[in-house]
Amino acid sequence: MKILVLGGAGYIGSHTVYELVDAGNEVVVIDNLETGFKAAVHPKARFYQGDLRDRAFVDSVLDAETGIDAVIHFAANSQVGESMVNPLKYYDNNLCGTKTMLQSAVAHGIDKIVFSSTAATYGEPEKVLIVETDRTNPTNCYGETKLSMEKMFKWVGQAHGLRFVSLRYFNACGAHVSGQIGEAHNPETHLIPIILQVANGTRDHISIFGTDYPTKDGTCVRDYIHVTDLAQAHIRAVDYLMAGNPSDIFNLGNGVGFTVREVIDTVREVTGREIKVVEEGRRAGDPAVLIASSEKAQRVLGWKPEHADLKHIIETAWRWHSTHLHGYGE
Ligand code: UDP
Repeated sequence: MKILVLGGAGYIGSHTVYELVDAGNEVVVIDNLETGFKAAVHPKARFYQGDLRDRAFVDSVLDAETGIDAVIHFAANSQVGESMVNPLKYYDNNLCGTKTMLQSAVAHGIDKIVFSSTAATYGEPEKVLIVETDRTNPTNCYGETKLSMEKMFKWVGQAHGLRFVSLRYFNACGAHVSGQIGEAHNPETHLIPIILQVANGTRDHISIFGTDYPTKDGTCVRDYIHVTDLAQAHIRAVDYLMAGNPSDIFNLGNGVGFTVREVIDTVREVTGREIKVVEEGRRAGDPAVLIASSEKAQRVLGWKPEHADLKHIIETAWRWHSTHLHGYGE
């Protein structure tokens, strides 16, 4: 297959490109390198640097790259906190970028898109195991723009015969087992890479945001899912669309929750390093517990997480963080 990956230099995008290339696919990557890294792009993928809001640029890539079977769309800003202080940045990049890309895709006859969505589309959950039919009521602007992107695909799909799969990830984590690529954000806001930066000596401590949640140890519970499992789900979703199946939405998680303290303890066990902890107040907009039911993805897409064990997930992340103290060094 020939697959166009938008945002293929980012964390989840780069891992998906590795899996696609390893499975023998022809891969084309577009990334503006605003938050992604050129070094994360697989050397066998053809790379075009540019912005999805630039219609002439997207048209030029699609004119040159004929015969694309499907698009996988990761290109978006994804920091919850930033989306709350700068919502227009999120509307501009996430929604305007998707709109322009869709205009070009429709004009070029592309009719299959796999989309990187998020658990943040649900907001505060109604019950512990979240299913795809649960109410969507985002509590932050990032989640709101992702939900709007899903709806854009729905209406554009109905009008122009385009089919899509939206994958709502829970907490993406871990790194490629080779240690060649991994998680690198600037600034880093995610729990596991921050704890590993304490372990590798580039950060002083981990702040726990809230110790008074109604959970077993007072800290938030999240469903941590390995990035390579997410990558594999995108390939299953492309296969699903290639087989002629209708547009749909799937959760991706392990269906198991860990508290912030449990994650810190697992990092201590894996790395053997001291991890200094500072207890702080709650971070705005954090639900107490977020756990996915991925039963639908397993049943319909035939997807199954292969790296579900938290210790193994952290071992893969540590392989990256212990050898890349400053990420991609860019
Ligand atoms: N968290 C924390 N300290 C940090 C970063 C995160 O205690 O420095 C907590 C956060 O409150 C949440 C969990 O770790 O309960 C996972 O946060 P992350 O930002 O990694 O992902 P999110 O769940 O927000 O998508």
